[in-house]
Amino acid sequence: MILEKKKAFNEFAAAKGLRSTRQRDIILDFFLSTHQHVSVEELYLKIKASHPGIGHATVYRTLKLFTEAGLAREILLHDGQTRYEHALAGEHHDHLVCTGCNAIIEFEDETIEKLQKEIAARHGFMIRRHKLEIYGLCALCRAPR
Ligand SMILES: [Zn+2]
Ligand SMILES: [Zn+2]
Repeated sequence: MILEKKKAFNEFAAAKGLRSTRQRDIILDFFLSTHQHVSVEELYLKIKASHPGIGHATVYRTLKLFTEAGLAREILLHDGQTRYEHALAGEHHDHLVCTGCNAIIEFEDETIEKLQKEIAARHGFMIRRHKLEIYGLCALCRAPR
C-alpha cells in the first residue's frame, strides 16, 4: 500500500516536472506512517526530531502537494487550522469536528451519501468529490465538569 502510494506520487511529481528531493521523500515516509489526522505542526515536530534540516514551510508546502496529488485530504478545523489524513482510493468518510478540543470523529452514512447524489442530479451536477465537515461539541466537551 505504502509502496503503491509512493509510486503514484512519484508519477504525479514527474508529470508536474518536479524533481524528486530527499526531503520530500522523508516527509512522505513520515506522513504515510502516521495514521491520524495530523497537522503541519505535528508532522513537522515529528520529523524535526530526526531531521532538523527540514523546515516548517517545507512540510507545509509538501502536504499541500500531497493533497493536490490525491494522496492526502485536508480537514479544516474551526480555528482555521488544517489537518491532513491519508486519502485512500475508493475509501470515503465524513467528519464531525469538535470546536472545543479539535477532536475529529469519522463517520460514513449511506443515506447522506445517497441524498447528496440526488441533490446533485436534481441540478444536473456531476459530483467529482465531496467533503462534509460538521462542527460542534464532542461528548467529552459537552460533559459537565
Ligand atoms: Zn471536544
Ligand atoms: Zn478522517
